[in-house]
Amino acid sequence: MDEISLKALAKINLGLDVTGLREDGYHEVRMVMQSIHLYDRVEMKKTKSPHIHVETNLYYLPVDENNLVYQAAKLMKDEFKIKEGVRITLRKFIPVAAGMAGGSSDAAAVLVGMNRMFNLGLKQNKLMELGQRLGADVPFCVMRGTALAEGIGEKLTALPPMPRCPILIAKPAVVVSTKQVYEQLKLNDSTKHPDIDSIIENIRQKNLRGVAEHMENILETVTVRQYPVIREIKALMKSNGALNAVMSGSGPTVFGLYQNEKEIRGAYDALKQSGLAKNVYTSEIHNNRR
Ligand code: ATP
Repeated sequence: MDEISLKALAKINLGLDVTGLREDGYHEVRMVMQSIHLYDRVEMKKTKSPHIHVETNLYYLPVDENNLVYQAAKLMKDEFKIKEGVRITLRKFIPVAAGMAGGSSDAAAVLVGMNRMFNLGLKQNKLMELGQRLGADVPFCVMRGTALAEGIGEKLTALPPMPRCPILIAKPAVVVSTKQVYEQLKLNDSTKHPDIDSIIENIRQKNLRGVAEHMENILETVTVRQYPVIREIKALMKSNGALNAVMSGSGPTVFGLYQNEKEIRGAYDALKQSGLAKNVYTSEIHNNRR
């Protein structure tokens, strides 16, 4: 196999809690991660020359070692002493710096692609272990489906599939820095934490409404204060039929879960008309693991 084309799926956080701060400065989290059917396209081709060549449709993304796909290819080349090179064409559709793990998912796709193209025979666990070196979200992006992420996000426990439903996604035109959001998060004894266990229990019971009712993201306490537009988008989604709407990751993207296509169509139009979000997409739960 000399070339391969892969989908790199985005993720949403059905719940995101921060439980503490480690001595090394990283935050301890408990998050329910869910793959969705919004994806970047990663095309890879073997080359005789040893170089890693990256091209992308987004002019402002780096194509050198600062791009996560480059880092993933380099990691595999170094680790398994691969002499040939690779040409990677990255077509981005997942919004960038949005809390949807776009870069991490692209990197995961490259790990999977290199494994197949160069017949390395690596098991998924090994790819997840390698992925952890590139970023805390990469192991989940290798695995996909529904999972509980703990530790700094790298300790994964697979969960049963989330009930399927249409999802509305909106990214307002504001820029948030993941690092700053975590730094500004204030936790004390009276902090109200999201009920992650109830989300998991409702996933087990295949109760979509129950999952939606408990969806919460503790990082909204930081971002909503800074960017009230996040609250406005949530409110608009809910007043247009969403079972619930929350921010994904460190934001600023907001997603809403819906019960049927008719409702989501109306909400999509209302959101577009409101001008609150630059990018609006409809998507759905993606449950297949690799
Ligand atoms: P997360 O949900 O893990 O916080 P994110 O959605 O906030 O991820 P990404 O879209 O993955 O963020 O990218 C954040 C930054 O990483 C961008 O500003 C970009 O410069 C850099 N980057 C490197 N490689 C990529 C890539 N393949 N796709 C997108 N961004 C990339």
